[in-house]
Amino acid sequence: MNFKDYIRVIPDFPQPGISFKDITTLLNDGAKYREAIEEMRKMIADLKIDLIAGPEARGFVVGAPLAYALGVGFVPIRKKGKLPYDTIEVSYDLEYGTDVLAMHSDAVKPGQNVLIADDLLATGGTIATCVDLIRQVGGNVVGAAFMIELQDLNGRAKLPDVEVFTLTQYP
Ligand code: 5GP
Repeated sequence: MNFKDYIRVIPDFPQPGISFKDITTLLNDGAKYREAIEEMRKMIADLKIDLIAGPEARGFVVGAPLAYALGVGFVPIRKKGKLPYDTIEVSYDLEYGTDVLAMHSDAVKPGQNVLIADDLLATGGTIATCVDLIRQVGGNVVGAAFMIELQDLNGRAKLPDVEVFTLTQYP
């Protein structure tokens, strides 16, 4: 069965006009969750990866099992103020206002190959910010992998020099 059969689409969440792709229904099915992670692992099998980085919170749900499957480390990227050690920060524009993402300054060593993972690629703003953080400390972004791509929002345009991998696509 298709992964889309396990993704619940919620109209008008969190705002009118947004069709939210709810992955909790996929996560709720152990076999399908494992299959999704395994399919993602196969998509990136040719890459040389030292670390996987994922933005909170759903990037943890995708990135950490992928890191476990590959036997590489995981780097959490969090909203400002959540990480306990020295951080670097990058702010990014939201539809209304800005937000700040942070990463521990020693989490990625210069020259390490980092794959970014998240549940969904929409406008690409979140992942472009993650790319910025990793490159600021000298990391090499080898790709970005997602369960879902919202194609009409053209997130790939914000990631022109990053190889993008997606498991399932919506218009
Ligand atoms: P972007 O920065 O690409 O516009 O938005 C992607 C981020 O917003 C991801 O971290 C993702 O978790 C969240 N997001 C935006 N829309 C949706 C959605 O429809 N479903 C889910 N699960 N996450 C979304």
